[in-house]
This record gives sequence, structure tokens and C-alpha cells, in this order.
Amino acid sequence: MQTHQILSGLLAAATILVSSASQADDLPADTNGRFTQARSRTFRTFDTRTQQTWQGPYFFLQLADTQYGMFTGNKGFEKEVALSQQAVEHINRLRPRYVIVCGDLTNASPEHARYGAQVQQYKQDFSAIHDDIPLVCVCGNHDVGNRPTAKSIATYNHNFGDDYFGFWVGGVCNVVLNSSVLKDPTGAPEVLDAQQKWLDQQLAAAREAQAKHIFLFQHHPLFLTKEDEPDQYFNIPLVRRTPLLEQLKQADVRAVFAGHYHRNAYGRAGAMEMVTTGPVGRPLGKDPSGFRIVTVHETSIQHQYYGMDDVPEKINLTETPNAP
Ligand SMILES: [Zn+2]
Repeated sequence: MQTHQILSGLLAAATILVSSASQADDLPADTNGRFTQARSRTFRTFDTRTQQTWQGPYFFLQLADTQYGMFTGNKGFEKEVALSQQAVEHINRLRPRYVIVCGDLTNASPEHARYGAQVQQYKQDFSAIHDDIPLVCVCGNHDVGNRPTAKSIATYNHNFGDDYFGFWVGGVCNVVLNSSVLKDPTGAPEVLDAQQKWLDQQLAAAREAQAKHIFLFQHHPLFLTKEDEPDQYFNIPLVRRTPLLEQLKQADVRAVFAGHYHRNAYGRAGAMEMVTTGPVGRPLGKDPSGFRIVTVHETSIQHQYYGMDDVPEKINLTETPNAP
């Protein structure tokens, strides 16, 4: 009887050890909770109540398409590691208010054999960012699949937190969307419906709280250069793009920041800017690997893309901003 109890106790302890070890494998470098801040539709680092107030100009960095594995078709990720580590050096020197990565963190999707290794390397490299600089991750089509499902989104949620959420930084309302369900909602129509209802509430709350600016972040550009351009691989289909653009214009959204295109592109929908940013990883055009620096003033914003070898030493926030 006693031996049996001891044995089952040992078995239970072994089971706990095994399961905690496998959880540790899934979240290898998240000792400070950096990759689990997007929860309950908010980003926990930023306290909504205190961050709804303007606290002076600041800048943040927008990255996209680290896409570990793209250079080699998932055989390795040495080039992505080198480029990401270069980005992290710039981040730690510049000290932005926060960093946001607009999707395609890895090249492999959740069902792919190389997915776990790529996620692990991404987390290892980006964990080197200084503890007091928040890192916000956004899901792309490679992160949840070209036709996202409840299962693929759940895998993303496990590794990186919510796929859509909002957060305030110094008087600015930031909205992050899962654009892969806007691109193709057929595998998870209930997610697109829930996201739309949530977006309606977020935009109403931003108006109520008198946000200085509203920014939207997602992986897919709504459009590349013209708001009514024809549907193609890199934009959101007109059937969902047109009503969303109308809603964003009505809500006075200042800018939409995206990636996915692996080069830069710019357009406008009324007063709203559509900003598509080149990749940290593999470029598909003439723009080199790099990232965007966005400076936020009370009534205006400025942004510029820098190749990884051309990033300035520091950012001067006292420069006179252009007219809004
Ligand atoms: Zn993409």
C-alpha cells in the first residue's frame, strides 16, 4: 500500500516535470513575460488609465517580416538571425518608447515541422531587447496560415498572445488587427465577426477618450497605393476593404501601418495614411532590409524607413515637426 502510494507520487511528480519541461520548450526565452503581454484584448505593459493622457513627443519603431526561414526555404535562418540581431542593436541604442513587429515573425506556419525552431530563435533574438522597451508582436499570414482556423490562431495565441488587441501610449490609441481573417475569413468567420464588433467598440472608446491620434497596425496592407486599387495578393479584397476604410476615415484614424509586401509603399485614403513597411528579413524589391522610425507629436506624425546600415545614431524629438 505504502509502496504503491510512493510510486504513484513519483509518477505524478515525473508527469509534472515532463509537462513543465515541454511548456518551457514552447516559451524558451520568455522569462520576463515579454511575449505574453497581449492578453484580454490589451497589452499589459501599458496601463490604459495613465496612458490615455498626452505626455509629450516620443518615437517608436515599426518592423515587419522578420520571417525566419524565408532566405533558405525553411532550411536554416542564419541571415534572418544576423539581420534581427542588427535590428536589436539599433533598438537598444535608440531606446524607442516601444517596438512593434507587423507580422510574419517566422516563415513556417504552425503546422510546419520547422515552425517551433523558428519561433524559438525569434524569441531568443528579440529577448535581447532591453527589458524596459516593450515588444509588440502582430500576426501575419505565415503566423496563422493563409486560411486561418481556430486551431492555427490558438497556436499563435499560445506563443505570442492575442491576435487582435488595443493599447494606449501617451495619449495615442493603438489598434492591432488580425488581417489574415480580413484577407480570407472562410476558415474562421466567427473570428472576423468578433474582431469587427471589438473594433467598433475600440474606435468609439478612442473618440470618447479624445485620443490625440489613432494608429492601426496589421500585417496586410489595406491597399498599396490607391484605396480603390484592384484586389491582388498583397492587399485586402475590396469587398471587405471598402467598408473598413469608410469606418477608419469616419473614426479619424491617422495612419495604418502594415508589412507583408517586403518593400515600402505609400498611399492615402482621405486624410489617413496607408504605410507599408519593408522587411527586417528578405527584401523582394529595391528597399534593403530595415525598419521604420515613427515620431509622434501632439498634432502630427513623421515616419521614415531606414536600411539596416543607414539607421541614425539617435533620434532628436525637438526637431520642428512638419505641418500636420
Ligand atoms: Zn505576409
